[in-house]
Amino acid sequence: MANQEFQRQSMAAKLNWLRAGVLGANDGIVSTAGLVMGVAGATTDSAAILIAGVAGLVAGSISMAGGEYTSVSAQKDSEKAALARERKELAQDPEGELRELAWFYEQKGLSLDLATKVAKELTEKDALKAHAEAELGIDSEQHASPGQAAIASFIAFAGGSLLPLLAVTGPWVEARIPVTVVAVVASLAITGYVGAKIGGAKSAAAIIRNVVVSLLTMGITYGIGLLVGTSI
Ligand SMILES: [Zn+2]
Repeated sequence: MANQEFQRQSMAAKLNWLRAGVLGANDGIVSTAGLVMGVAGATTDSAAILIAGVAGLVAGSISMAGGEYTSVSAQKDSEKAALARERKELAQDPEGELRELAWFYEQKGLSLDLATKVAKELTEKDALKAHAEAELGIDSEQHASPGQAAIASFIAFAGGSLLPLLAVTGPWVEARIPVTVVAVVASLAITGYVGAKIGGAKSAAAIIRNVVVSLLTMGITYGIGLLVGTSI
C-alpha cells in the first residue's frame, strides 16, 4: 500500500512537470510566432526576422524562468512559514492540536473513536507531517525547487519558440507566412491535446481554444507589421 501510494504521488509529480512543460512550450510557440509574424508583416528581410525571433526566444525564456523562480520561491517561503507556525502550535498546545487533527479526520467521515485513534497514531509517528498534510495539504519534507522550476520553464519556452523561428526562417522564403501558420497551428493542436489529456479536460475544446488564440495573435501582429511596414 505504501509503495502504491508513493508511485501514485510520483506519477502525479511527473504529470505536473509534464503539464508545466507543455504550457511553457505553448507559450513559447504563441509569443514567438506572434513576434516573427509581426516582423515578417513589416519586412521581407530574413536577417531582421531571424534577429527578432532569436531575441524573442531569449527574452521570453529568461522572463519565464524568472517568473517561475519568483513564484516557486514565494510558494516555498509561505509553506515554510506555515510549517513553522504549525510546529510552534504543536509545541505550545499538543492536546489541542491532537483534537484538531482528530476533528479533521472526523470531517472526512471517520467516527470520533477511529478519528482519535488515527490522529494519535499519526501524531506519535510524525506530528508535523500529519498536520502539514491534513491542514495545509503540503508535504513537510518535499519542497518544490525554484531553480529546477526556472530551468524547466526556460527549456520549455525556448523549445516552443524554436518551432515558429525555424518555420519562418527556413529555406521556403516565399512561403514563410503559410508555412509558419501551418506549423504553429499543428503544434498548438498537439500541445492543446496533450495539455487537456493531462489535466483531464475535454481535448476538442482545448485544441480549438488554443488554435484560435494563436491565429488571433498571428493575425493581429501580422496586421500591425503590415501597417507599420508600409508607413515607414
Ligand atoms: Zn495543527
